[in-house]
Amino acid sequence: MRILIANDDGYLAPGLAALVRACESLGEVDVIAPEQNASGTSNALTLSRPLSVFEAPGFDRARLFRVVNGTPSDCVHVALTGLLPHRPDLVLSGINNGANMGDDTLYSGTVAAAMEGYLFGLRSIAFSQVDKGWGELEAAAATARAVVEQALACGHAGPWLLNVNIPNQPDAVSLPRVVTRLGRRHASQPVVRQTNPRGDPIYWIGPAGDARDAGEGTDFHATSNGRVSITPLQVDLTDHAHLSQWAGGLQAR
Ligand code: MN
Repeated sequence: MRILIANDDGYLAPGLAALVRACESLGEVDVIAPEQNASGTSNALTLSRPLSVFEAPGFDRARLFRVVNGTPSDCVHVALTGLLPHRPDLVLSGINNGANMGDDTLYSGTVAAAMEGYLFGLRSIAFSQVDKGWGELEAAAATARAVVEQALACGHAGPWLLNVNIPNQPDAVSLPRVVTRLGRRHASQPVVRQTNPRGDPIYWIGPAGDARDAGEGTDFHATSNGRVSITPLQVDLTDHAHLSQWAGGLQAR
């Protein structure tokens, strides 16, 4: 089995090393990751300049990581469209430093890297730890590996895309794993306005909002009740529920 592993926190992130270590005995692993932290870059592709790829030693210096001066989607896109001599059987992304639940999935580079694999017809999984700071990372990595094995054992040919959020707990691997739907967050906190040394106003995007829909069955509910959340994702943004309502008002009669 050939596994492509990417992330959005950058090639030096501990979450990437932990995921690679946990999964490298499952098959032949290629790692391709952004040079810099590219969290929150969603599915962005770099179209205004060429991309460079260089090799850097991974966590154990025995393995070389491929590093791209671009986004998470760039990494997987380049890997799948010419860089790799073969087509991987599986794309993994993460482990992200912090949750990707509800609306986060639209902004997340971690989810986007896996989604790029999915868009190319592959089986893909994005992994995130619920809390930032890499607490209990090894337990999260062991959990990620267990989820990979379990998902492959299901036998679904794919393509499919799973979004996994793992509580930062030492016993993460033995926590119940539940299949969830995405919850929703409140609108994010206000932008933070400051003044730069030249006296100009600058703005920091505020933190994400708290959960608005954290009801039973959601990713928020699962993780806040000590479970590993696994959400199957799709890409179709069509508002199917209101198609006919809009058609009635907008289509020429
Ligand atoms: Mn990130």
